[in-house]
Amino acid sequence: MRTIPSTKISETVRKMCIQAACELPRDVSDALEKAAAEEKSPVGRDIIERIRENVRLGREEQRPICQDTGVSVFFIQKGCDVGVDGGTLGNAINTGVKLGYEDGYLRKSVVRHPLDRVNTKTNTPAVIHFEEVEGDKLTICMMAKGAGCENMSRLRMLTPAQGEEGVKDFIVETVKKGWANPCPPVVVGVGIGGTFEVCALLAKKALLGDLGEKNPDPILARIEAELLERINNLGIGPQGLGGTVTALGVRILAHPCHIASLPVAVNMECHAHRHVKVTL
Ligand code: SF4
Repeated sequence: MRTIPSTKISETVRKMCIQAACELPRDVSDALEKAAAEEKSPVGRDIIERIRENVRLGREEQRPICQDTGVSVFFIQKGCDVGVDGGTLGNAINTGVKLGYEDGYLRKSVVRHPLDRVNTKTNTPAVIHFEEVEGDKLTICMMAKGAGCENMSRLRMLTPAQGEEGVKDFIVETVKKGWANPCPPVVVGVGIGGTFEVCALLAKKALLGDLGEKNPDPILARIEAELLERINNLGIGPQGLGGTVTALGVRILAHPCHIASLPVAVNMECHAHRHVKVTL
């Protein structure tokens, strides 16, 4: 059994939090470059160029791309032959988040209770999803998830009779309802199937898919392409001021479900699609 010191995990997470806030990953900056070339509206093009300039400055000057540095969401894949030395994995991650948000001068955006609204001042607790896999590696994916886009997300329990058309209409309707609120151009994460909670989790996880890669599931790849076209035809455009690029991408994950249900969840993500992946 291989072991990783909890302090190493915390230090890795500390760096990931700062990197996520200041450096957009390559797939997102590539998608923004493509959007700049494709956008037909002059105002839309101007906005995308300003977004790209902001992204460049964030990377070069190591400053946060947005003032909302988000809730820290983690997807962990832990090999069954690797352990943590010196504490629990969850504690190691939360320590790293606390250090990263402090050292990176990032806004702490977490309250201890949804109703009394007292800020924890550490950006913890993080939201952590664990999955056990084969091997002796620990893979940590971190997203800094802003509230403007998260608040525009929706879930619906459709009936199987509503089928693919019902699913697609709900997704497009969700993007339309959000309009400028999720800071377009957006990334649309979709979960289809599973149960109530599984499809919500799939929608979040779908956002981690590389924007430049085709979905390996041919049915989902076809639906993603169709939805991207429909969403961009809504005319919302960059920052909601009109244009032909409303979304940078649509990513879908699916899961088996009950014969009598068809859950669908849409997790909206803004152009500041901040995520980092590290394997230890
Ligand atoms: S939705 Fe995204 S870009 Fe807009 S304020 Fe929130 S984190 Fe920033």
